[in-house]
Amino acid sequence: MLLCLAEAEQKPAGDTDREIHAQAPPASLSFALSPELTVEREGLLQAVVFVHCQLVAGQNEGSIKPPCPGAPPQLTMDARVCEHAGPTLLLKAHRAAYKVRAFMEQVTIIGTGCAGLTAALYTARANLNPLVLTGTMPGGLLTTTSVVENFPGFPEGIDGYELMTRMQKQAERFGARVRFGTVEKVELGSKPLRLTVDGEQVETQALIIATGAGHRHLGLPSEEKLEKKGVTYCATCDGALPMFRNKPLVVVGGGDSACEEALYLTRFGSIVYLVHRRDQLRASKIMAERVLGNPKIKPVWDSVVTEVLDVAKDTVTGVRLKNVKTQAESVLDCAGVFVAIGHAPNTAIFQGQLDMDDNGYLITRQGTATRVPGVFAAGDCVDHVYRQAITAAGQGCAAAIDAERYLAALAR
Ligand code: NAP
Repeated sequence: MLLCLAEAEQKPAGDTDREIHAQAPPASLSFALSPELTVEREGLLQAVVFVHCQLVAGQNEGSIKPPCPGAPPQLTMDARVCEHAGPTLLLKAHRAAYKVRAFMEQVTIIGTGCAGLTAALYTARANLNPLVLTGTMPGGLLTTTSVVENFPGFPEGIDGYELMTRMQKQAERFGARVRFGTVEKVELGSKPLRLTVDGEQVETQALIIATGAGHRHLGLPSEEKLEKKGVTYCATCDGALPMFRNKPLVVVGGGDSACEEALYLTRFGSIVYLVHRRDQLRASKIMAERVLGNPKIKPVWDSVVTEVLDVAKDTVTGVRLKNVKTQAESVLDCAGVFVAIGHAPNTAIFQGQLDMDDNGYLITRQGTATRVPGVFAAGDCVDHVYRQAITAAGQGCAAAIDAERYLAALAR
């Protein structure tokens, strides 16, 4: 597999751009290969080539990078748009006259949240040309947040999606290659390290794991059956849906996430019930004060959801509650249930290969190193204590520096 070592050549001006944005049928493009690549002539073989295109801010333009030095051999192929992931466009070539042998990445980063993109920025600026794999949620959990008010440098706050888009652009500016792809398997027992990404092999000398965390579920069968039928884990993504407009809504949880969800939902719901299993919020003081002072939010203390109603109707009509102090049961009518009870680390693919605690958080030592040399971890997949955007970014920076030093030592 060839990973982003191609450069557009001899294309009529504007041709590539038009193809990208029109998402048009296959068009012929000509690429020049980097001289470091080994090219084997094997007749007309299928070759998958990902070429990164960087959008020029504010304009619908694309350009292909990075430039390849020297006088490279020529490769002509048909290309078409196959993915559109935020500001990065991936072109997929589907017919090529050459097979290009895989080459090894210096550093691969899994995850494009705060930790992953900060690691990308630092490794890119260290000329390590990092490959950055998005997973299924490009930009990570912060893209599901409305306004981020506690990331330094943004006194008015910044939209979570915009913050992550800016981070990606900043990393790409220095040569990070962000690719839409999900890592299905890792083989960390030998060198080079191997990843299977959407069925394709990637070999890498160093790996930075920044896979973040996913939403924790209540674990109720009715919750699972009614997911996307009124049960959701993201108010910013789903809150504005017509099914929730001017209807009573329930948020479950007592942390910052639950408070943020409840506040956001006051824009849409007739009333927002905040169901919490204790009589005190875990959230930061400022968030708790905002929630408790909002007339559209009604806390329901000491209560847990025991069932989401109504599976028989295939839509959410309410929740069955139990008061944990009195054991009294009740039903609360609502059109939506927004579960915000924390997160679980996305580390299942590393099970048995890396050390992790009972909750699945990766265990690091000496900074961001895991027990496998060359494998580093940062952000919400490691940190169950601070779990902030800025601490994740800091750990991503540390992981990049650790990886850079590891690679420098390898080269000596
Ligand atoms: P969290 O702080 O771990 O809070 C989870 C909440 O869910 C707790 O109130 C917990 O109850 C409750 N809970 C957990 N399991 C439950 C269950 N099975 N049934 C019912 N309730 C359950 O998680 P978070 O709110 O997602 O926040 C995670 C981190 O991100 C925190 O460090 C937070 O500060 C940060 N964050 C910050 C912001 C912001 O600054 N604007 C926004 C979002 C998140 P107990 O309290 O009883 O344990």
